[in-house]
Order: sequence, then C-alpha cells, then structure tokens
Amino acid sequence: MESVEFVVVGCGPAGGIAAREAARDGVETLVLERDPVVGSKRVCAAGLRPGFCEQFEVPRTIVHCDPPTIALHSPTERRYDFRVGPAHTTTREELDGTIARLAREAGAQIRTSAMFRSLARDGDRTIVEYADVREGTRRRVAARAVFFAAGATARLDETPFAYESWDAGLITCLQYRVYLERPALPQAYQTLEMHYYRSRKERPVIGWMFPKRDHLSIGLGIQSKLPGPELRAELDAFVSQVLHRLAPGISYSVRNEGNLLYGGAPRPRIVAYDGTVMLGGTAAGLVDATTGEGIHEAAMSGRFAAAAVSAAKKSTRHAPGTAYERATRQAFYGRLHHRHKLMTFLERKAPRFDVLFTQLARTPRFAELLQHDRNDFTPLQWLYLYAQAAKFSLRALRV
Ligand SMILES: Cc1cc2nc3c(=O)[nH]c(=O)nc-3n(C[C@H](O)[C@H](O)[C@H](O)COP(=O)(O)OP(=O)(O)OC[C@H]3O[C@@H](n4cnc5c(N)ncnc54)[C@H](O)[C@@H]3O)c2cc1C
Repeated sequence: MESVEFVVVGCGPAGGIAAREAARDGVETLVLERDPVVGSKRVCAAGLRPGFCEQFEVPRTIVHCDPPTIALHSPTERRYDFRVGPAHTTTREELDGTIARLAREAGAQIRTSAMFRSLARDGDRTIVEYADVREGTRRRVAARAVFFAAGATARLDETPFAYESWDAGLITCLQYRVYLERPALPQAYQTLEMHYYRSRKERPVIGWMFPKRDHLSIGLGIQSKLPGPELRAELDAFVSQVLHRLAPGISYSVRNEGNLLYGGAPRPRIVAYDGTVMLGGTAAGLVDATTGEGIHEAAMSGRFAAAAVSAAKKSTRHAPGTAYERATRQAFYGRLHHRHKLMTFLERKAPRFDVLFTQLARTPRFAELLQHDRNDFTPLQWLYLYAQAAKFSLRALRV
C-alpha cells in the first residue's frame, strides 16, 4: 500500500491551500480530487474578500473586477449601499486551478479523478480508501495526517464527524453565468449585489449578482430541497429583474450551474482519529450564513491544517488535531455561530433586515467591524460591537 505523510481530500480553496503550504514546509503531501480538472465543476459566485490575493499569495491575474461597493437589497425592496475594501471577483476554475498549480510547484502531488470512499485507523496511520475513477479501481493510501475538505457534499454520517443538523443547513443553489452581447451599464461592474427576499411560495431566498470580466454571475439559494422547475422559475424571475435594471435591452445567453451551499452552524466536531484527521472548509461548516461567504474561511482552515501538520512533524509528540482545532475554533466559531443565529432571527420577520441595514448605514464603524474576524478585535471594539448588537436586538424585537 502507498504511504505518505499528509493526505488532503478535495482540492477546493481549503484543500489547495493546505497542500501548498504543507508541501512548501517539506511535508510529503498527496491530494485526492474527485473531478478530472481542478475547479472546473465548482459553482460559486466567487467573490473574494479585500486582500485575499495578498493574504494567500495568489496572483492578482485571477481577479476579474474590484467592486468598491456592496448593495444589500432587503425583502421590502429597499437598497442599502456600503463601501468595501474593494472586494474582488473571479471564477473557481481560475482560483482553484491556480492554487492547485502553486501547490504542485511547491511539491504536492495532486491526483485527479480520485474519489474519496472511507477512512479507517490502523496503528499510528490512517488508511484512506478512494476510487480511481479513470481506471475503475479501488486504492488505499496510508497517511500520518489527513485533512478532509470535500465541501458541502461531505455528509460523513458513518464517521465520528456525523452531525444531525447538517442536512437542515444545506441550501439549494442555482446560478446563471449571463453572457451579454455588449457590456452592461457601468454600475453593474462597480457593485456586488446581495438580495434577501421571499420566494413566491414564501421561502427565504438569498440572491446575488456578481460581475465578472466576460459575464455576470446571477444566482440564488433557497434553504430547502426544491423541484428543479420551481427553482428555475424563481431564478428566471430574479434574473430578468436584475437585467432589466443593469442591462436593459441587451441580448444574452446563459450557462446554468447548480450546487449545494451550507448555511448552518459549524460542525461540533472537526478532529477525530486520535487527532490525525481534521475537517476543514465547508465540510466543517465554515460558511457565513448571512452571505454564503466561505472561501476565506476555507483557505484559512487549510492554512491552519498545514501549520499544524508541519509543527507535528517537527515534534513527534503531538498529533496535529489539537493545534488545528484550537486555531479554527478561535478564528471562526464565535462569528459563524452568531451569523447563523442572526440569519435565523432576520428570516423570521422581513422588516428586521431593514432595521439591521439602516443601523449599518448610519454607523459605518459597525459595518466596517463586521467585515473583520473577531480575533482581531481590541477590547474597546468588542464593547462597541456589543452595544451595537444590543441596540439592534431592541429595535428588531419591536418590529
Ligand atoms: C452558488 C454558490 C455561491 C457561492 N459564492 C461564494 C462567494 O461569492 N464567496 C465566497 O467566499 N464563498 C462563496 N460560496 C461558498 C464557497 O463556495 C465555499 O465556502 C468554498 O468553496 C469552500 O471551499 P472548500 O475547499 O471547503 O470546498 P469546495 O470548494 O466545495 O471544494 C471541495 C473539493 O472537494 C472535491 N470533492 C468532493 N467530494 C470528493 C470526494 N468524495 N473525493 C475527492 N474529492 C472530492 C470537490 O470536487 C472540490 O474540488 C458559494 C457557494 C455556492 C454554492
């Protein structure tokens, strides 16, 4: 049986960054990726946080647009504009493909058409079984550490990571890449649009329009399983409303794409098998439920996993899981749990979105703070945040 130091399952931003940074630290790394071409099947609006490329040392050439504004549209059809970093947009074939190339250059081996099947502990090793989809064979590889980052489809029911609320957090998404015959109005390329509203059947919907170099990504997510035609009808109505405003009278063609997004609370357990198997990215539930943002969280969790594996290699006494879990929980669990609760609270009464967005518009410092990770906050910022949160709760409970 093949044997390596570190196996990474999935080559999205979590797996790709983990592989690159572990390999760069001299850890022998093998990535198992289900798709034949990394990133080619990922469906995503691919909006990146300000500073993403610098933070993860990814070339700026992947960036399509740098919108300086995010527009939040509330269920009562009011629009609130906020300045952002600027943010960036790209495509997942470029983002994931570039990170995979950088990982290979750092020495990681990326095996495509390799579909993960199961994990088992054997002495001080973990055995990862996968299917070689090209050859139609089953293979096994033994590893000292495993980083599991297979995205939203990772149910993991038969493992120590099983989480009974996982399915309830899944959001069905449909997105169109809209290719216009000529460019849309200039403001289309200056703004990331997020729309919060209720579907014709009264289900909460998150919609978005993210501009790209050669197309607009327009999509929506609904938190339940829906028949395809119903989802498509909902998206068609949303797309025509967006294009009527941003590209009036311009003909277009669409490529449609569907995927699952996770919008629940983070998984309670992200380390098992004596601290040698770690879950990261969306598989660990690291997604902001209010926006669907998860690329930054995924990449950071990959960075934490690589650092933990490389530290464990130097000191043979510790498995990497402890350091990985500490870093990941500290960076994300507080904010993501809170975002999940906030989204549930907002969706109960539509006017609550207006209460929040109005408060954010009136207090730019509050809006600015919410864009950062909490572990960067000073005690004074924490105090300010609590005061603003208390104000919001009081106002929102009155509507
Ligand atoms: C429609 C949509 C829009 C989104 N828009 C944004 C956005 O604008 N900004 C943002 O920050 N986030 C966005 N997200 C969230 C973002 O896509 C995820 O948070 C991010 O992709 C998580 O990265 P990951 O590496 O954990 O998982 P993924 O990106 O899902 O990557 C998982 C990888 O694992 C592979 N894999 C899956 N199963 C197996 C298996 N059995 N064996 C081997 N490999 C496997 C997959 O092929 C894939 O390459 C969006 C999500 C959706 C669905």
